[in-house]
Amino acid sequence: MKSSDSINRSGAGRLKERQSELSVDQFVEGILDGDRTVLSRAITLIESTRPEHREQAQEIIDRTLSETGDSIRIAITGVPGVGKSTFIEALGNYIIDQGRKLTVLAIDPSSVRSKGSILGDKTRMESLANNPDAYIRPSPTAGSLGGVARKTREAILLCEAAGYDTIFIETVGVGQSETAAHSMVDFFLLLMLAGAGDELQGIKRGIVEMADMIAINKIDALDKQQVEKAVGEYRRALQLYPEPDSGWGPKVTTCSAREETNIDEIWNQICDYIEHTRENGYFAERRNRQARHWMYETIDQELKSRFYNHPEIKKHLRRMEQKVQEGEISSTRAARQILQRYRQDD
Ligand code: GDP
Repeated sequence: MKSSDSINRSGAGRLKERQSELSVDQFVEGILDGDRTVLSRAITLIESTRPEHREQAQEIIDRTLSETGDSIRIAITGVPGVGKSTFIEALGNYIIDQGRKLTVLAIDPSSVRSKGSILGDKTRMESLANNPDAYIRPSPTAGSLGGVARKTREAILLCEAAGYDTIFIETVGVGQSETAAHSMVDFFLLLMLAGAGDELQGIKRGIVEMADMIAINKIDALDKQQVEKAVGEYRRALQLYPEPDSGWGPKVTTCSAREETNIDEIWNQICDYIEHTRENGYFAERRNRQARHWMYETIDQELKSRFYNHPEIKKHLRRMEQKVQEGEISSTRAARQILQRYRQDD
């Protein structure tokens, strides 16, 4: 792999050393210059649990913020095996040929458990990973979904500041990660297969409802009739949902990621959507709503983290847990007493 941000084992130690040597000024300058190695190191700071790293990361974000936002952010989701990485490669290479610069990020909290990310994995998207106009970053592996989502959102900002004008957020299409992804993108694309109901594909209704487009993949393996039937089924399914605020009814389309069929048409439709929502004000409104959401989300997380990491509270919690389990005190009263204690101590 020739990408400049690839880290081999022996390089990891050196990278750490160099990282501590970079000043905020150097980070900011490197990012604005589009230096991928500096960008990677800055994202590593975002992902770090060390308070001084996070502080430094915040400063970098603050100082590059005016250069962010000028991009198209797209979530791409679907169950494992539907063809996400093949599709991301096909669409990614297509738009890069059109002069765009692409970042692929992933939200995959399960990677915390599996000790290795399956999403955003460069080996799954080899041709894209080797493209100098693509920057691929696997899901952050540490922390809760909330933590992973925050890190991804902050990584979006840094990538935009580094000149990437298109951001793909990959999620696995089976749960909460999609809601998090939805809260940071302009367009939500759901990949599906034909011939299987939603239940069979493990896709929750809530996810279908978020979709701005459903693309039925692997049509090379189907005949015309099967394709038409699948399109009809998904169109009918989408009609059950109310008209979205964007004023742009979700589209059902088809593609073959492997044979790169209809990839151009999908991109055209995404561009239509962006144009339409920019014109009617929905694009800006959605971004504003998301910014507000992330402010409150950050407050929630920060309050929780301060509370649960407070040394006195930690001890007190263990004692109260015991009392609740032994039936000595009700859960509500225990919670109130602990919160009271926190207010006194804080
Ligand atoms: P992911 O798990 O959703 O990322 O799916 P992958 O992109 O890894 O694809 C899973 C499998 O489906 C691989 O063997 C792909 O080659 C295959 N695949 C992906 N897209 C297509 C397609 O359009 N047509 C066919 N026939 N196979 C595909």
